[in-house]
Amino acid sequence: MTEEKIEFKAEVSKVLDIVIHSLYSNKEIFLRELISNASDASDKLRYALLLHPELASKTGEFKIILTPDKLNKTLTITDNGIGMNKEDLINHLGTIARSGSAEFIKSLTGDKQKDMALIGQFGVGFYSAFMVADKVIVKTKKAGDDKGYIWQSTGADSFTIEEDDSLPIGTSIILSLKKDDEEFLEPIRLRHLVRQYSDHISIPIILKEGAKEETINSASALWTRPKSEITTEQYKDFYQSVSHAFDEPWMTMHYKAEGTIDYTALLFVPTKPPFNLFQPDRKSNLQLYVNRVFISDDLPELMPFFLRFMTGVIDTNDLPLNVSREMLQKTPVMQKIKKGIVKRILNELKKRSEDKEDYKKFWDSFGIVFKEGLYEPIDERAEVADLCRFNQTASDDLISFDEYVSSMKEGQENIYYLTGTNIDSLKNNPQLEGFAARGINVLLLTDPIDEFWIQTYTEHKGKKIISVMHAGADLEKIKLENEPTEKALDKDKEKELLKRIKETLKESVKDVQVTDRLTKSPFALITPSGMMSLNLERLMKAHGQQIAMNSDRILEINPRHEVIHKLADMLGNKEVDEKINDAILVLFDQTLIAEGEPLKDPAAFSKRLTNFVLNGLA
Ligand code: ADP
Repeated sequence: MTEEKIEFKAEVSKVLDIVIHSLYSNKEIFLRELISNASDASDKLRYALLLHPELASKTGEFKIILTPDKLNKTLTITDNGIGMNKEDLINHLGTIARSGSAEFIKSLTGDKQKDMALIGQFGVGFYSAFMVADKVIVKTKKAGDDKGYIWQSTGADSFTIEEDDSLPIGTSIILSLKKDDEEFLEPIRLRHLVRQYSDHISIPIILKEGAKEETINSASALWTRPKSEITTEQYKDFYQSVSHAFDEPWMTMHYKAEGTIDYTALLFVPTKPPFNLFQPDRKSNLQLYVNRVFISDDLPELMPFFLRFMTGVIDTNDLPLNVSREMLQKTPVMQKIKKGIVKRILNELKKRSEDKEDYKKFWDSFGIVFKEGLYEPIDERAEVADLCRFNQTASDDLISFDEYVSSMKEGQENIYYLTGTNIDSLKNNPQLEGFAARGINVLLLTDPIDEFWIQTYTEHKGKKIISVMHAGADLEKIKLENEPTEKALDKDKEKELLKRIKETLKESVKDVQVTDRLTKSPFALITPSGMMSLNLERLMKAHGQQIAMNSDRILEINPRHEVIHKLADMLGNKEVDEKINDAILVLFDQTLIAEGEPLKDPAAFSKRLTNFVLNGLA
């Protein structure tokens, strides 16, 4: 077969361009990425051998060989793993392996350190070779195939493929190093890099200098070693390598569970949220091993969705080595392991939550995901609730449900919350006035997810969790800290005014009623319980959902407010009738503005307001 020239897919060219021209710091991670691919390839073949033992005759002991060649200025990374056929070469080394290429380009921040971290996460790992090499040759033959191939590229817009059947099974990646990157030919540098980034790789990594071969990693799966022999540094390196991350683990858990199911777990909570935490297909970065043989890292059945930020390794002897996908989905072993790890993680988080400042770091990164546990169908919802933290009106610190309950006022029966898009505007929401006047703390919920869990987690240890908008008689039972100085409107006037407001606002609101919750503002809007909240409505609109303007809102008026008294006094006076109308409309529009709602007719509002200002100035 002659050489065939194939163009890279557009997104690959773009990534290559960035890799080659913009990312210079931290180049050394190319080695970690290529060794990781070699190790994955060996894992894949080891697994394939379980299903097709006949392949074994052509493979030897798994190993990865690094061969620096100072004369030709090449570094070769060789593995005897699964190898690639022509289709694999075109699909895997001609496109971006994982879905996120467009995401990758979008996510680039211009900050080299961060962009670098993205390379590993987006599965453009192989292309990092072009940071140090101006030409890359891949010689490979897939296990079970007769045909071998040589792939070559200079990282420009194309690559070539030609057949070479004489190749052994596995893959050799030959990097022609750039002039500035010849340091990667130095044995001392290679030893150091392997120890730093790839020490835990479970097969030997061999440095080959002439005839001399030296194993330069410890080649023992880190999780199988006793805790006492592992340093924090080693845990960190292992974490960075399994998660392709650059941060430190915020929490490291390493334990052996013995009981109905035996397994070893080495799990981490990152410090920083990974970029794809909110992508719908985001899985936890968890790898399953059976007796140290890698089985899969695509295991939604092993970790509940709300813990998808966890990364690490689970190794068990309680599954057969040739376990199939279907079996993984069905076997009770997975269920039991999942139960076990969830329990451990929640326990560990509970311990860490005692140090509030430290726990806040976790909460700031992952609280928004963790709260999903309040509506995910899990048995541990109560434990999850205990670990949740919220903003509050009483202070700038975060508070737990339990702390809230222990600070409840005399006569207070419920846990109150208010949802919205940001803390500062929530704090000024008129709905909170009656709560402040009674010294009642209110949870301020600003994450979109909050709108969802409050519909399923409606009670905490016997206390109902309800929106401030739906507090009524229960609120009146709690004493005001200071008695109001202003008198309420008398009942006849109240009735008349309500009628008039209703007539003026027509179908903009469903009803108008008086409330005890306002102390400073004349008007406020609420949604009756069971209806979509204003905030949720806004969220859905922001996500392009077609929702009719909610006409189920109720306008509440403060019967003690000066403006309300004035309006009530003016009723029946024909000369100022038009003014009453305008005042009601201006007050209503102001209420919408305070809620962050768009006005139906902003021009009319501004005209009316200008008139009032003019009269005020006269
Ligand atoms: P990732 O490893 O994150 O999927 P890479 O760009 O590093 O992304 O690699 C793309 C794909 O190319 C891999 O998923 C794998 O299928 C294939 N590949 C890369 N290196 C090797 C190798 N040494 N042996 C076999 N396949 C490989």
